[in-house]
Amino acid sequence: MNETKSRYDKIVIVSGPSGVGKSTICKEVAKRLNNVYLSVSVTTRPRSKAEVDGQDYWFISENEFQKRLDKGLLLEHAEVFGHWYGTPKEQVDEALQQGSIVILEIDVQGAIQVKRIHKDAVMIFVFPPTQKELAERMKLRGREDLETAEDRLNGASGEIAAAWQYYKHMVINDNLQQAVNEVVEIIQQN
Ligand code: 5GP
Repeated sequence: MNETKSRYDKIVIVSGPSGVGKSTICKEVAKRLNNVYLSVSVTTRPRSKAEVDGQDYWFISENEFQKRLDKGLLLEHAEVFGHWYGTPKEQVDEALQQGSIVILEIDVQGAIQVKRIHKDAVMIFVFPPTQKELAERMKLRGREDLETAEDRLNGASGEIAAAWQYYKHMVINDNLQQAVNEVVEIIQQN
């Protein structure tokens, strides 16, 4: 099929370790810029009490995930901490066609897949100010049990190492408003 590229085609990838505050930053950025589409991923991870289906994620079974994958409905997908995550392709394409800025909050594996297809995708990695701060934020969030939280913290160093290789833009989330300002600026300048 002939892929028509919109003049405004802009995909922004936001990655970073679990608990770093990516979702909060992305939501704030969406308030600050016009015409932003925040992609909602599908995942096989169980929903936590605070999460809303269709808003935070589409929570689906492994069987359903596999079906969508087989049908080519996912722009990218990856296994992260033992669960599957993927970006629905159709909604992203539609938003791009409408001239939206599409923000994908995905991990490094997914980001590499998207970058292969959308070569102009802007890649931003969000760092915690310190490792200790990241552990504190995860504890405060209280979403996962201790073992899962430890797994995620251990995974953070691997992701941070990969960030140096693949991401052009780095933002430290020490102060939320400052981090949001920096992401907005990056989007506007790229
Ligand atoms: P969480 O379970 O904490 O919401 O997300 C775990 C990790 O999966 C985070 O690094 C998050 O960015 C990543 N993630 C969320 N949605 C997707 C997706 O659709 N694709 C990929 N590749 N990673 C995702």
